[in-house]
Amino acid sequence: MSSSNGLVIDLKGVEKRYGRKVHALKGVDLKVHPGEVFGLLGPNGAGKSTLVKCMLTVVRPTAASGNVLGAPLGDKPTLARVGYLPEHARFPRHLTGRQVVEFFGAMAKMPKALCKEKAQELIDLVGAHDYADRKVGGYSKGMQQRIGIAQALVNDPDLVVLDEPTDGVDPVGRRDIREVLLAIKERGKTVFVNSHLLSELEMICDRVAIMVSGKVVQQGTIDELTIDEKHYLMVLDWNRETAAPGKLAEALGVAMKPEQERGGVPVLAGELEGVRYELHGPKLKVMVTDPPAVQPVIDKVRAAGIVIRSVEPKRPSLEELFMQAAGEGGDH
Ligand code: ATP
Repeated sequence: MSSSNGLVIDLKGVEKRYGRKVHALKGVDLKVHPGEVFGLLGPNGAGKSTLVKCMLTVVRPTAASGNVLGAPLGDKPTLARVGYLPEHARFPRHLTGRQVVEFFGAMAKMPKALCKEKAQELIDLVGAHDYADRKVGGYSKGMQQRIGIAQALVNDPDLVVLDEPTDGVDPVGRRDIREVLLAIKERGKTVFVNSHLLSELEMICDRVAIMVSGKVVQQGTIDELTIDEKHYLMVLDWNRETAAPGKLAEALGVAMKPEQERGGVPVLAGELEGVRYELHGPKLKVMVTDPPAVQPVIDKVRAAGIVIRSVEPKRPSLEELFMQAAGEGGDH
């Protein structure tokens, strides 16, 4: 279910100050569509957890407007339709994982029989059957997180908000958790994940927002955010005498000049007929997206006797995008 404008989350101008000194959120707008996995990314201290807490009214925002599941922020009946795994969630050590899930079901006023049924279903979903009847006190981080995800789903929420669900979890556990998130999405839920593990989110998120210093600096699908930087990457056989930057520039007919790339790495770069070329050691980036557009470049390089090891279409990774956004956003 969603609001009249079709959004599950539509936040406007969320601001949060902790005391006088900390300006944790500086006016955040955020839109999340139904049925998607949405990733909120940002370095430590960017304000991700604070935003989630404001959205779920765990902390009181200094200023905020907008809707969650079609109702104004803080609407109690609507909050009952949201599942939440807080960051660093800790559960009573003397309870078993199963009892934790049942306990949260009881908190959501579910009948006892339904709590038991739901707990079993969710223990299976998160793959916790082997240890569900052991006490949480003896759980590893990954086991705790899986039970944490199960408890967030017990009330059959329309929106599931998970704050760093893979925090402290090993690579196998992280892969399993990714699969659980996709299974939740398949059940028609909207999933909102906070994380700083970019490669991970890249694999599962339909849309992402990048947050830096209390502001969202980029928001969209990964494709939308990377469209301007799509290119073909040609790896040249630089060990051969025939290959040298001067020779390549001559073959392409492009004046290549030294430039400082992002992060201070020097590159040779030039432009011809609206196409930018960048040479990073033996790697030539040709800033075109269509296969036909790169063919004449391949012909010119080969005609000059330069051996090509590989040609591949590329787009920047979420990590590159993030580093760029963090650099730009960090200046403010
Ligand atoms: P992390 O990935 O490290 O959890 P985050 O992006 O979730 O970071 P927040 O935890 O929201 O960031 O913190 C944002 C800013 O607000 C930080 O500067 C933090 O120190 C500050 N902050 C968070 N909670 C409080 C609090 N209760 N009192 C004072 N300052 C706080």
